[in-house]
Amino acid sequence: MANRRKKARTQSKYRRRRLLLALIVIGLVGGAGWLIGTRQPAPKDKTEVSQEAEPSQPEISPPAEPEASEPEPEPEPVIQTPDDEWQLILASALNPLPAGYAPPELETVAPGYQVDSRMAPALKKMIAEAKTEGISLMVCSAYRSEERQKELYENKIAEHKATGKSDEEATAVAASIVLPPGTSEHQTGLAADIVTPENQNLDDSFAQTPAAKWMAEHSWKYGFILRYPQDKQEITNIIYEPWHFRYVGEEHAKAIYEGGYCLEEYLYGVLNYKRLELFVISPTAKPIETDEAQQSETETEMKEQ
Ligand SMILES: [Zn+2]
Repeated sequence: MANRRKKARTQSKYRRRRLLLALIVIGLVGGAGWLIGTRQPAPKDKTEVSQEAEPSQPEISPPAEPEASEPEPEPEPVIQTPDDEWQLILASALNPLPAGYAPPELETVAPGYQVDSRMAPALKKMIAEAKTEGISLMVCSAYRSEERQKELYENKIAEHKATGKSDEEATAVAASIVLPPGTSEHQTGLAADIVTPENQNLDDSFAQTPAAKWMAEHSWKYGFILRYPQDKQEITNIIYEPWHFRYVGEEHAKAIYEGGYCLEEYLYGVLNYKRLELFVISPTAKPIETDEAQQSETETEMKEQ
């Protein structure tokens, strides 16, 4: 019995100890919680400290902070033309212009033809100087609005649907003749189709004219490039167009001319712009006869008007 009582006493002693221990633990946890609780404003304290360490910071940093805290712009899958390099804007089937794109200001360079006002002086200068060398240049297509391009494209689809083709078939055929809105370089206002009164054919025969030869040789001096060269059709995906000239500015035009590049090669390969996958050209890809067809249609309408 004595043993049992002794055991019971010992047990209650243990219980008391456990209770005490539990209270200590609760106390510690509570204390820690309180400590954590009071430590919450610590970051504030820290900043105060660092502000003290660099006394000039608090006055300078608050106004600078909104700018500094702005997130870095994410790289976008489309080509980004820096604002000061507007002349390098790329419009193609693989790189369409943003919806609604239009040049900031237009200037008339020939009756009925307008271009981006920033390149108009260069175009006028080239035409004027060619004339002093006995070369007569004639603009036959320039800026084309998104609406106009859309109209041409939709007309072409309707034309093919009228022959009994399905929507899908008609669209595919139309897209191989007229560029869909946003993908024609004429929408940038930086391109012009230039011919000569003796040969206004938008075909390979134009390449043999003194006008075409003169432009191929001298246009870079005025900031223009032959945009769709014969040997770059697999990259540009557009047929050889010895009449289509594109303004890129004198510096870039010189580099492109001397390097023998097309615009895509120059932008992606030389200037290291984004979307390098552009060079993955399907071996079955054929240059599309776009400009020619849409041009002749425009011309016809122009003449009718
Ligand atoms: Zn053109």
